[in-house]
Amino acid sequence: MSFTEIAVIAIALTIGYKYTSALISPSAKKDAAGKPARSDTTPAPLGLEHDADPSHEAAMGLLDDFLSGDSHRIWAASWGVRTLRDPVQLNLLVGQLDRIRAATLKVNMGGVVVSNNVHLECALRKLEHVRHRAGCLCALYESDIFYNPTKEAEAGNLVIDETGTQAGGWGDVHHCHCPTCGSAWRVEDREYHYPWWEWRRAEA
Ligand SMILES: [Zn+2]
Repeated sequence: MSFTEIAVIAIALTIGYKYTSALISPSAKKDAAGKPARSDTTPAPLGLEHDADPSHEAAMGLLDDFLSGDSHRIWAASWGVRTLRDPVQLNLLVGQLDRIRAATLKVNMGGVVVSNNVHLECALRKLEHVRHRAGCLCALYESDIFYNPTKEAEAGNLVIDETGTQAGGWGDVHHCHCPTCGSAWRVEDREYHYPWWEWRRAEA
């Protein structure tokens, strides 16, 4: 047998071994009882198994902000809740509503012209609305002057059927409806130091 023949056989054996071991490797991982070996992935501790769920993570982020005692973080979380429509996140926050209320009660929210407390109050009112299953979320438009109809329409929460000019020529009036419950809304642009909107129920 020449050196070349020996080399060829050696290479063939090596490749054959690798191929065979790759084929048998799944069963090789079984333990003596024939059960598959534990994977390297450690299961999540009980109660935290939703960590990979983006809705759960987002809700826990908002909750952290509400519980932080930091007025800016609470303000940002309040704005987040204002436009939040994800039912999973809303329900997770509703489950913590009493904690949120207690943790924010004595925080000085600051604010120029308008107290930033209005944003927190709107967020708490929305969570209360969800807690009591008080109906379509569009009902909250009437009690919150910071719902921007254009943004609500962009988010798919509202349909603007027609936009015109208000009597007197100042600002727009939007004739809208809620695609979820069909309620009709008349929304007028307003401005006093900052833009706000006056929402009124209209005839459908
Ligand atoms: Zn509605």
